[in-house]
Amino acid sequence: MIDAHRAPILHPSPNFDARDCAVDMLVLHYTGMENADAALVRLCDPAAKVSAHYVVREDGQTFSLVPETARAWHAGVSFWRGARNINARSIGIEIVNGGHDFGLPAFPEAQIAAVIDLIAAIRGRWAIPDRNIVGHSDVAPGRKLDPGERFPWQSLAAAGHGLWPDVMAEDSADPLGDLARIGYGPAPLDDAGHAAAVIFAFSQRFRSHAPTSTLDADLRARICAVAGLAEAAR
Ligand SMILES: [Zn+2]
Repeated sequence: MIDAHRAPILHPSPNFDARDCAVDMLVLHYTGMENADAALVRLCDPAAKVSAHYVVREDGQTFSLVPETARAWHAGVSFWRGARNINARSIGIEIVNGGHDFGLPAFPEAQIAAVIDLIAAIRGRWAIPDRNIVGHSDVAPGRKLDPGERFPWQSLAAAGHGLWPDVMAEDSADPLGDLARIGYGPAPLDDAGHAAAVIFAFSQRFRSHAPTSTLDADLRARICAVAGLAEAAR
């Protein structure tokens, strides 16, 4: 859809450096700050040493901070599918939303529509598989909670981006192994505290009405279903 309002506004950040590998991931964040202006200031502050490629405001207005060909600094210490160089291989999108510190506000429709348009455009330029479209909490469980359980992953998947299990699978016999197969880690998930953080991250995304760090039958079935999709999407 061509919409002049949606054309990204250039808002350059000095916080980037060179990539050393191809882009094959997309990491979604919430800003977790009081408003878009505060987030833009921080993401462009050389002292903060953080950035993202894009910021999407509540009204759908998008800002371009770092060229897609450069490495923005949004993921921090993170892991997905055996890789730790998440900034080097990903595009980072900051979605303006107060997050957990501001009462988990809903994401307005116009904002989600803009995020979907932006992702479609990015995927037109880079080969990013559905299983590599993730939240910050997926790649940094226990350390990050964004984009949070109000982010509509199901709507994103309905628009063709990311995994969503439409059919529930049978109970997983090896839920921690299945979580590792989806991409969570570092694997093996043999530390109880870390496993609990990964389970919470998964449930924030795939059972957002009831996030938990404890496995139950419903969650094991969801894990099995997503692992099946991830394997099929290899
Ligand atoms: Zn984040």
